[in-house]
Amino acid sequence: AGTPQTFGDTEAQREVRENDRNYVFHSWSAQGAINPLPIAKGEGATFWDYDGNEYLDFSSQLVNLNLGHQHPKLIKAIQEQAGRLATIQPALANDARGELAKRIVEHSFEGARSVFFTNGGADAVEYAVRMARHHTGRQKVLSRFRSYHGSTGTAITLTGEPRRWSNGTLDAGVVHFTGPYAYRSAFYATSPEEEAERALAHLEQTIQLEGPETIAAIILETVTGTNGVLVPPPGYLPGVRALCDKYGIVYIADEVMVGFGRTGEWFAYQGFDVKPDLVTFAKGVNSGYVPLGGVVISEEIHNTFVDRSFPGGLTYSGHPLACASGVATFDIFEEEGILERVRDLGERVIEPRLRQLAEKHKSVGEVRGKGFFWALELVVDRETREPLVPFNASGEAAAPFNAVVAACKQAGLWPFAAGNRLQVAPPLVTSEEDLVRGLDIIDAALDVADSYYTGK
Ligand code: PMP
Repeated sequence: AGTPQTFGDTEAQREVRENDRNYVFHSWSAQGAINPLPIAKGEGATFWDYDGNEYLDFSSQLVNLNLGHQHPKLIKAIQEQAGRLATIQPALANDARGELAKRIVEHSFEGARSVFFTNGGADAVEYAVRMARHHTGRQKVLSRFRSYHGSTGTAITLTGEPRRWSNGTLDAGVVHFTGPYAYRSAFYATSPEEEAERALAHLEQTIQLEGPETIAAIILETVTGTNGVLVPPPGYLPGVRALCDKYGIVYIADEVMVGFGRTGEWFAYQGFDVKPDLVTFAKGVNSGYVPLGGVVISEEIHNTFVDRSFPGGLTYSGHPLACASGVATFDIFEEEGILERVRDLGERVIEPRLRQLAEKHKSVGEVRGKGFFWALELVVDRETREPLVPFNASGEAAAPFNAVVAACKQAGLWPFAAGNRLQVAPPLVTSEEDLVRGLDIIDAALDVADSYYTGK
């Protein structure tokens, strides 16, 4: 990790900041309040600002930078493809797209047949829903309240959490239901098994009351991501599958965040004994080096569109630069044993340390996760489980949580923070030494969370 020319270059930094503030319209922000940190350089799990401050990235940016910054093989694959054929329209075949589709199908569920490529996660969700609607001839789609599925028309409506609120009802066919969350059970369950059972009963009632013959699909994040790393309790996902079979509903697994190694499997559903009909992916497919997403399609749904045209497409579907870096991702996973290291370091380093932090710090209400995907849920009282900040808090109400985040950043750790949770999602290539260092920083930051504790 050398020093870039720009470290300490206050003029360059000022220009980056000013151009951004003057001309860039930012996501999810009041434009008057933004002040993003200019980033000069990245390498592996680390990035640097223009003053040379170093950040160990425990968020993998937006949980997409699975193979870290500046992976030489990803860059080489993009450069080689760019030198040969930088772009081509989707109705013409190209080697990178075909090869990537083949690799994805080969690593997917039994009965997976083909891949439709998109530009990212939200449009993958749009297309999966569209396929399910055409396939079933039904219109409604069920999703959970605690979910994020993207920010386009149907995807933002499917998103159950507050980011949906101010966007109105863009898709009248969307129905929300409550999923399992044993730590804050809506079903008065006293064990994960009971939570699964009752959440499934609630889902079946929802299906019956909406009218099974009107429901095209159920979409679920296999492990809920930005809404809290909610790992499904035993039996829940197979139970959803059984309900889908019973009522002729398409099962869509949204694996945009958890696909490609995050939980130690190629796809997270492979660790939960469930076979979906459609799988959405993006982010980790090529670590975000070039925008890419897509839908893995079952044989049965694929066959619906063999004699009948599928009415949809995108100019950049299967973009060669994006697909070339996707193919390289599969090579890197195999050469570097990425899945094995995620399982090993997840079990041996991350999980035990997080469990130890929960013992040590009274502000940690619950630890949950898998592989390189974890959450610490912060509370002010373990008994009542009152969260460190109220649900959907902002401004002053969020100050205690912001103080914890600031302590991480000051110590050189870039955390993934959401609601009242510190989430741990480092790049899958992070060294054992850096994992330990990052967890030490979290340990110290939790002292700040403890200072707000009001319980016994
Ligand atoms: N689904 C899930 C589960 C996600 O986490 C995200 C992004 N955070 C999306 C869909 C949307 O992906 P994108 O931002 O690439 O549109």
